[in-house]
Amino acid sequence: MTQVEPAPIPPSTLPRIPHWLSGARTPGMGRTQNVYNPATGQVQAEVDLADVAEVDRAVTAARAAFPAWRETSLSRRSEILFGFRERLVARRDDLARLITLEHGKTHADALGELARGLENVEFACGVPHLLKGGYSEGASRGVDVYSIRQPLGVVAGITPFNFPAMVPLWMLANALACGNTFVLKPSERDPSVTLLLAELLKEAGLPDGVLNVVHGDKVAVDRLLTHPDVAAVSFVGSTPIAQYVYETGTRHGKRVQALGGAKNHMIVLPDADIDLAADAAVSAAYGSAGERCMAVSVVLAVGTAADPLVDAIAERLPKLRVGPGDDASSEMGPLITREHRDRVRGYIDRAEQEGAQVVVDGRIHSAPAEGFFLGATLIDRVQPGMACYDDEIFGPVLCVVRADTYAEALTLVNSNPYGNGTAIFTRDGGAARQFQFDVEVGMVGINVPVPVPVAYYSFGGWKASLFGDTHMYGPEGVQFYTRAKVVTSRWPDPATSRVDLGFPTTR
Ligand code: NAD
Repeated sequence: MTQVEPAPIPPSTLPRIPHWLSGARTPGMGRTQNVYNPATGQVQAEVDLADVAEVDRAVTAARAAFPAWRETSLSRRSEILFGFRERLVARRDDLARLITLEHGKTHADALGELARGLENVEFACGVPHLLKGGYSEGASRGVDVYSIRQPLGVVAGITPFNFPAMVPLWMLANALACGNTFVLKPSERDPSVTLLLAELLKEAGLPDGVLNVVHGDKVAVDRLLTHPDVAAVSFVGSTPIAQYVYETGTRHGKRVQALGGAKNHMIVLPDADIDLAADAAVSAAYGSAGERCMAVSVVLAVGTAADPLVDAIAERLPKLRVGPGDDASSEMGPLITREHRDRVRGYIDRAEQEGAQVVVDGRIHSAPAEGFFLGATLIDRVQPGMACYDDEIFGPVLCVVRADTYAEALTLVNSNPYGNGTAIFTRDGGAARQFQFDVEVGMVGINVPVPVPVAYYSFGGWKASLFGDTHMYGPEGVQFYTRAKVVTSRWPDPATSRVDLGFPTTR
């Protein structure tokens, strides 16, 4: 009997998304992963997944570029960032289109993401000012003391799918401004926009090797976490991976900041303007299909606020237009993958079984069936212990928990394992001020549902939403990407010199 040879697998005709090493697009050497258009459900490209040797190439390139980059003057670094800023503005529609194509969010939302990322570049343009040290003349007689901040070397950034441009910009703007070289490992689910960011930086004058982009999965992340030449790691993603990255990176001697997941509660007090609170809850819960770490996922309706608020939210949801992100009439796009959409749908199924009330059911919608769409869902009478309350869902599902008092609502916020963002809606300034004092959450909104701080503050949650002690971007970003050195100097007359074994004192 003749053996039948298996038919050779035809080479893929899909476009390949390569790495960016030493200032050039660089094809990968092996494994790839499909990249989908979530609005159509179709595979549209393959992204290269780096193996250990490819990550090593990126780190080697970054290491080689470091000495010259750290010697580059502050004003030149600032000039390059200004040039980058101009290019980001000029190309924002192209960047937004790439985000929508792979992530699914609407074009307007992608432009919003870019605008918030841009703020970080503008902040970093001020690096000559940001890196000014302190100087104490005459700390002791004839002795001056001053402090300087120096870059760490090669630093790595590992980023999530939900903000494929903004989160890389949170990291790399400050890291590069401070004189570090950078290896970025973006999400493998929507990787393309980072290549355009790298190209724009090159056009603006960034020397080759200062920024490298390696696509990949756990293999690439693990190599970055253990590579002896990587000095620090910034991570943004889900809590289990954030904790893993923090523990593994610090065990290997690295400075690590790892931002994790969230379950953001919005308290609505009985005195709040119900229409204003309902508009805010809908905007914050369903924008970007709920795939935002600062999305409101739980409304805590206090006392008499509950019934009118649930009605007001429910009334708004059928009017939300769900559809492809590149359709200008869509307000909410699809979820990132089919598996994630099905997982989110599973939470709605379970909520019903667990006794909650599905007031608006997003499982029924009119968006294209082949895309990864789910409609806006509102679940009332949710309780702690139900899966839809306990887990981060990361989809267009808003849970309402009814609380009798402010104290009961506050206890729920403070006993939640996450502490990323929260908000209170009220007309009572005293109540809001008390909340700001009481609440154990890193970012607080008062009548502001998505309180993402401006770039000159820093972004970070508490508890399981952040591992490490430095928040991201803003002043804490500059602190994270530099280390301090203090110089004590004197210029004595040699004629006065003598041996003195006493411990130096200053008086
Ligand atoms: P994720 O944790 O799955 O992935 C984040 C990064 O980690 C990606 O680059 C991915 O390739 C890598 N990764 C995934 N699994 C890994 C593993 N086992 N070992 C090593 N690396 C691994 O997160 P995601 O799904 O891309 O993003 C959504 C999550 O990110 C949500 O939980 C959201 O709340 C969170 N998030 C948090 C913030 C924040 O600022 N706190 C901001 C945005 C997103």
